[in-house]
Amino acid sequence: MINISQPSINDEETKAVKKVLESGMLAQGPVVKKLEEEFAKYIGVKYAVAVSSGTAAIHAGLSALGVGPGDEVITTPFTFVATANPILMLGAKVVFADINEEDFNINPSEVKKKITKRTKAVIPVDLFGQVYDFKRIKKLADKNSLKILEDACQAIGASRDGKKAGRFADVAAFSLYATKNIMCGEGGMIVTNDEAIYKTSKKLRHHGRCAVNGYTNIGYNYRMTDLAAAIAREQLKKIDGFSKKREENAKKLTKGLSNIGGLILPKTKKDSVHAFNHYTVRITDDFKIKRDELLAFLRKKGINCGVYYDKPLHLQPLFKKMGYKEGDFPVAEKAAKEVLSIPVHPMVSTKDIKYIIESIREYGK
Ligand SMILES: *Cc1c(COP(=O)(O)O)cnc(C)c1O
Repeated sequence: MINISQPSINDEETKAVKKVLESGMLAQGPVVKKLEEEFAKYIGVKYAVAVSSGTAAIHAGLSALGVGPGDEVITTPFTFVATANPILMLGAKVVFADINEEDFNINPSEVKKKITKRTKAVIPVDLFGQVYDFKRIKKLADKNSLKILEDACQAIGASRDGKKAGRFADVAAFSLYATKNIMCGEGGMIVTNDEAIYKTSKKLRHHGRCAVNGYTNIGYNYRMTDLAAAIAREQLKKIDGFSKKREENAKKLTKGLSNIGGLILPKTKKDSVHAFNHYTVRITDDFKIKRDELLAFLRKKGINCGVYYDKPLHLQPLFKKMGYKEGDFPVAEKAAKEVLSIPVHPMVSTKDIKYIIESIREYGK
């Protein structure tokens, strides 16, 4: 079976975990601190705060931006639910804005239409591993005094204009969940250049405790363990190799799958490096069989593709009951019907790629 994702773990990770186990310091400790320094350096920011998940990073990051009850936060309906849930967790209102056809990321013109007096922040997502249109969103944010939280959970290793994903907002959130480009089972990172956001994030991670005044605000237990951090540190050392392999695999897929009727390949923006957490094609009506039939066919052949996402968030019961309905975000709805993500991770071999291309080519000339 060629899986849609598979972590790459070797002796280095095993040894690092063993060392932590033997140290007796299993919870948050010196290894987490080291990881934070290395992560901040890799992204090119002043501060990184390690947390227990990407969701925790989004929640704490948004909270540090001051989002609360009565606020509106604009985000994309074409993302994982964990982008939007933290908005609800803070008692704020989720306001969706439709995406671009070509890169699946939030469309700045649609964001502009959704800004009201109550809009506090925007959460653009670097979907599948490509940085969003940060220039136009930043302009809107500056003009309307909005904060930006970049959901970079799928984009570690990506860059745009020579800057790494995670640097295109007031605060950014990463995930180290098992399916991401680097991982430690479960984990997350908050990154920022803003000292106040950094300090608040650290407080929120540890029960709202302030070193000077004790418990000053509501807080959480969002700490990362040294065990997880030990894995993440080893993975971070390997990231450039992982990224290169994903890029090579993506190139091979693009070469092998070009000029098939009804199959649209992912495009990388000229100024961007795509992290290819997912290599996502569109299977349109012009393709010989339906997307779901191709998905089932490939699975039967041992190629485990994925559909991210088969239903945009505004059509999920949780958000639908807030008044959203079919037709509200036509570009996202069309994408949900057409997308298919093909295995691209570093463990996919050249032989696997060839087999994937041949299998899809059974339906295309
Ligand atoms: C994975 C992911 C998250 C959540 O990260 P967890 O570590 O699973 O909590 C949030 N947003 C996006 C876009 C993701 O892909």
